[in-house]
Amino acid sequence: MKKEGPNLATPLRYFKGVGPERSKLLARLGLERLGDAFSFFPKRYEDRRLLKTVSEICLGEKVCARGVIQSRGIIRTRSRQSILRAVISDGKALLFAAWFNQPYLLSVLTPKSRIVLYGSVEKDGRHLQMIHPEYEIVTDGPEKELIHSGRIAPVYPLTEDLGQKGLRQLLFRITQEYLYLVEDPFPEALRKDWKLAGSRFAFQNIHFPASFPNLEKATRRLVFDEFLLMQLMIQMKKAALKNENEAILHRSGEKEVERLIGSLDFELTHGQKNAIDDILNDMKQARPMNRLVQGDVGSGKTAVAAAALVFTAANGFQGALMAPTEVLAQQHYFKMAQTLEPLGFSCGYLGPGLSVEERQKTLLKAVSGEIQILIGTHSLIQESVRFKKLGLAVIDEQHKFGVFQRGILKEKGQGSAHLLLMTATPIPRTLALTLYGDLDISTIREMPKGRGAVTTSWVGENKRHEIYAFLDSLIQKGRQGYVICPLVGNESEASLKSALEHHKELSNIFSHHKVGVLHGRMKSAEKKKIMQDFKNGATQILVSTVVIEVGIDVPNASVMIIENAERFGLAQLHQLRGRVGRGEWEAFCILFSEAQTGETAERLGAFEDTKSGFEIAEKDLKLRGAGEIIGEKQHGFPELRIGDLNRDIAILEEAKRAAIQVLAKDPELKLLEHQKLKLALKERFELLSNKPVVLA
Ligand code: ADP
Ligand code: MG
Repeated sequence: MKKEGPNLATPLRYFKGVGPERSKLLARLGLERLGDAFSFFPKRYEDRRLLKTVSEICLGEKVCARGVIQSRGIIRTRSRQSILRAVISDGKALLFAAWFNQPYLLSVLTPKSRIVLYGSVEKDGRHLQMIHPEYEIVTDGPEKELIHSGRIAPVYPLTEDLGQKGLRQLLFRITQEYLYLVEDPFPEALRKDWKLAGSRFAFQNIHFPASFPNLEKATRRLVFDEFLLMQLMIQMKKAALKNENEAILHRSGEKEVERLIGSLDFELTHGQKNAIDDILNDMKQARPMNRLVQGDVGSGKTAVAAAALVFTAANGFQGALMAPTEVLAQQHYFKMAQTLEPLGFSCGYLGPGLSVEERQKTLLKAVSGEIQILIGTHSLIQESVRFKKLGLAVIDEQHKFGVFQRGILKEKGQGSAHLLLMTATPIPRTLALTLYGDLDISTIREMPKGRGAVTTSWVGENKRHEIYAFLDSLIQKGRQGYVICPLVGNESEASLKSALEHHKELSNIFSHHKVGVLHGRMKSAEKKKIMQDFKNGATQILVSTVVIEVGIDVPNASVMIIENAERFGLAQLHQLRGRVGRGEWEAFCILFSEAQTGETAERLGAFEDTKSGFEIAEKDLKLRGAGEIIGEKQHGFPELRIGDLNRDIAILEEAKRAAIQVLAKDPELKLLEHQKLKLALKERFELLSNKPVVLA
C-alpha cells in the first residue's frame, strides 16, 4: 500500500486479508479496485435483527441466538455421513445445533467461545435445535460489532470458491474503514431538489442498512445516480446531434402532402395526423430531425412515411425508405409507386433481386435525382448507392437494424438529412426513456376505424381437425389465411413443422383450394410472385416462415395459424398476429402448441389475453428483462447495476428531469459545482463501454 494511504483506485489485492489468490476470485465478480467494492451491490437482504439469548428463543421463530459453546463433537452415520453437533448455552438453557458433512467446523467451534447462531428454532425430543444454522464467533476483547447477525444482513452474488461470509466481512471492513474516501458527485442543490440521501449514507446503508427505511433511501439514491448519469449522457448526445449540422431546409410542400392525404381511400386517424404534423414541423427546422414514430402493428405507419417522403420530394429533395426484409421492401415499393406516382413523384426500388442492369439503372437514377423516392432493403446502405440530394431517410421496423446501419443511411445525405424511424414493436416507456432518449417520439395510439377484432386461441394437436374445418369455412366466405412454421424444411429437428413439408400436407388436405409456400431461401422473383398471388387472391392459404413477420399487409387475410408457437417470442407472436385483422372482418389467430409449463406457458397465456402491443412490450420486458429485448447491445449503454426498468420507472423519470435541469444551467458541465459529476460520468462510460467517451 502506498505511503499516502489508499484511494478508490487502489487494487484490492493490497488490502489485509485479500492476497493474490483471493483477489483473483474477487476479480471474477468485477471487484478489482477499492472503489468497485462500494458499487458491488447485495442481491438481497436477510432480516436477522431478532437477537436473543438462548433461553429467550421460542420454537418456530427464525432468530439469532447468543450463547457460549459448551461442547461439540462429530458423529458418523452408517452411510458414512458426518454430523457435527454442538451444544450452546447461556447458563439457563441449552440449544443444540447440527451441521452435516462439515467436519472442518470442529476446529472453528471451540468450546467456551461466544457464538451467535442464526436459523429456525426446531424441536428434537426435549431440546430446541437448529439445523445448519449460520454462525458467527464473537471474538474476545472489546465487544466486537457483529457482522453477520443481529442486523439486516446483505447477501452478495458469489462465485465458486468464494464464501458469503468472507465476502461480507471484507465489505464490512471496507465500508467501515474507507467510506470517507467516497465523495458525493452531486452538488448540494441537486440533492435537496430531488430529496436524495448523501453518497456515503447511501453506500453505508446499501451494504449494511441500519433499518429498512434507510435501505430504501440508499437504494433510491444509488438508482438515481445510475439513471442520472445515463440521462446526462443521452441528453448531451441529443444536444450534440442537434448541433451537428445544418439541416436540409424544407420550406413548403404542405399542399402536396394534403393532396396525398386526399387521394387515400381512408380518413387518417388522429394519431397519424399528429405524427405527420410533428414530422413536417421538424423538417422545417434548421436542425436535422431525429424522430421515432411508434404505433402498434396495423396502426397505419406507412401512410405517415408516405407523407414525409412526399414532403421532402415536394421541396426538391430525395427520400429513401429502408425495410428489413425483401418482401416488405417490395410491398412498400408497390404501394408507394401506386399512390405517389399518380401525384407526380417518381419511385424506384433497390433490393437483392435486381439484375445487374436494373441495378445499374437505378443507381444512376438515384445519383441524377431522377428517382425522387428510393425504396429498398439493406441494399440502400451499400457503398455504391449515392443520392443527388437526400433530404429524408426513413427506416421502417427500425428495431431490426443496428444503430450503425441507421446512421449510414442518414449519412448518404452528408449528415444533413432528416431521419425518421418507425417501429411496430412498441417500446416500453422505460426503454423509450433510456434507449431512445436522444430521439423525439410520436406515438400513434389508436387503430383505424372499422377494423374487425382479432380473437386469439392457444390450442393443442387434438383441435387440429376442428381448426382446419374452421379455416375452410372462412375461405368459403372469401377470406384467406396464413400458416406459419418455425423451419423452412430439410432441417434435422423432426419435432418442428417445416414450411415445405407442411405445405405438401396442407395442399393435400385443402386440395380444393390453392396453397402457396414462402420462405427466405427462395429466389427474389419467386418470392415476389408468391406474394403477388396471395395478395390478389390467386392462392387462399400461404404457408410461410417468419419472412412475413413484419410489415406484410393483405387486408383480406383473416386467419393466422402459428405452428410450434412455443418457438416464438412475445413480440414476434404479436407481429405475426398483426398480419390479420387489417380488414373489416373478424380475424383469428390460432397458436398450435402442446401443453407447456413454466415460462412458455406464461408467455403463450399472456399473449392470448393481451391485445395491445404496448402491454405486450411491458410483459416482454418483465419476462425476459431489458437486456434481451434490446438485443446485441444495440444501444451502447452499460448494463444497469442497481436500477431496474420495471421497478424504478418513477426514479428514471425524475432523473431525466434532473439531467435536463442540470444541463440547462450548464450544458457542458463546466461549472465548478459539476466537476465531480463530470468525472463520475466519464468513469462510468469509459469504464464500461471500453471506449473513451469524448466530453467537452
Ligand atoms: P403498420 O403501422 O403496421 O405499418 P400499415 O401502414 O401497413 O400499418 O397499415 C395497415 C393497413 O391499414 C393498410 O392496409 C393501410 O392501407 C390501412 N390504413 C392505414 N391507415 C388507415 C386509416 N386511417 N383508416 C383505414 N385504414 C388505414
Ligand atoms: Mg408497417
